[in-house]
Amino acid sequence: VTAELIDGKKIAEKLRYALSEDAQELRDLGIPVGLVTIRVGSDFSAALYQRRIERLAAETDLRCKSIALAESTSQAELTGLIEKYNNDSSVSGILLLRPLPIGIDEPAVFASLSPIKDIEAVHPENAGLLALGTPRYIPSTAASVFHILDSWLADSGIDPMNFYRRSRIVVVGRSNNVGKPAIALAYGRQASVTSVDVWASRNNQLGWHTRRADVLIVAAGAPGLIRSEHVRPEAVIIDVGINPQTDPNTGKTTIVGDVSMAEVLSRARAITPVPGGVGPVTDVWLLHNTILAARTQAGYPNLKAAFDPPL
Ligand code: NAD
Repeated sequence: VTAELIDGKKIAEKLRYALSEDAQELRDLGIPVGLVTIRVGSDFSAALYQRRIERLAAETDLRCKSIALAESTSQAELTGLIEKYNNDSSVSGILLLRPLPIGIDEPAVFASLSPIKDIEAVHPENAGLLALGTPRYIPSTAASVFHILDSWLADSGIDPMNFYRRSRIVVVGRSNNVGKPAIALAYGRQASVTSVDVWASRNNQLGWHTRRADVLIVAAGAPGLIRSEHVRPEAVIIDVGINPQTDPNTGKTTIVGDVSMAEVLSRARAITPVPGGVGPVTDVWLLHNTILAARTQAGYPNLKAAFDPPL
C-alpha cells in the first residue's frame, strides 16, 4: 500500500477563493486592510515565508509591507517599530516572524503587540483565549494543520468528530507558535493528545510515543526525524517542518519536511508532502486572520463560514 498524498495546494485553492471574496467585501464596505510582516535576521525559512505572504497578498490585492531588520537590531528598536504599527490605523495585522535573534526576549516582544493586531495569537491575551478554547485569532499553522485534517476526513467519508473522539493525536514539537496551538486545537476536538519535544528524542522515547499516534503532527524543524519505525501502520501524518537542504553537487537549496517521506509511504494511510502540504494553507489562513482583524477593528467581526472554525 502507498499512502495517499494530501494535496495542500488544492485545499488552499478553495480557501483562496473565499479569501478573495472576503477581501472584495471589505473593499465594498470601504474598510482598509493592511498587513505588516517583520523579520529580524536572515533565517532561510522566515525569509521564504515572508516572500510567500507578500506574493499571496499581492495576488489577493491586499496591502502588505515586508520589513527585514538586521540581526543586530535591539529589542528597544523592535518594540519601537511595533508600537508605531500598533498606532497606525492603516495597519490591521502585524506578523512578527520567528526566530528572533538570541538576546531578544521573545515573550516581551510578543506582549508589546496590540492584541487586536496580533494575527498569530502570540500576545498573552490571545494565547490565553486560544488555550481556553475561545480564540480571537487561530494561529495560521495550527489552523492549517486542522483544516487539512478536517478536509481530508470529510473527503474520505469519515465523520471528523467521531474520528477525533476515538483518536490519539501525537504532536512532535512544542513551540508557542506551532506545537502548543496545535495541541489546543486537538483538545478542542476532544482527541486524546500527547505532546512530545526534543527531550523525548534525547531519551530515546520518541518512537514509543509516535507509534501510538492515529494522527501524527510533526513540527520539530528536524529533517528526516520521523522514519518508518516511528509510525503506526495506517497513521495519518501531517508534516509541518520546513527545512532547507542544499545539494552539495549543484548548490541548489530545496525544502524538506521533518518526515522521511520515502520511508513512511508504505506504512502511513495519508501524509502531507513538503512542499505543497501545510505551507500553502498556512499562507491563506494568515491573510484570512488579517481580514478578520480589519473587520474586528472596523466593528464588522462576522465573516461568512468559508473558513471552518477549527475548534
Ligand atoms: P521551534 O524551533 O520553535 O520549536 C521546535 C520544537 O520541536 C521544540 O519544542 C523542540 O523541543 C522540538 N524538537 C526539536 N527537535 C526535536 C527532536 N529531535 N525530537 C523531538 N522534538 C524536537 O520551531 P517551530 O517554529 O515550532 O517550527 C517547527 C518547524 O515547522 C520548522 O521546520 C519550521 O520551519 C516549520 N514551520 C512550518 C510552517 C508551515 O506553514 N509549514 C509554519 C511555521 C513553522
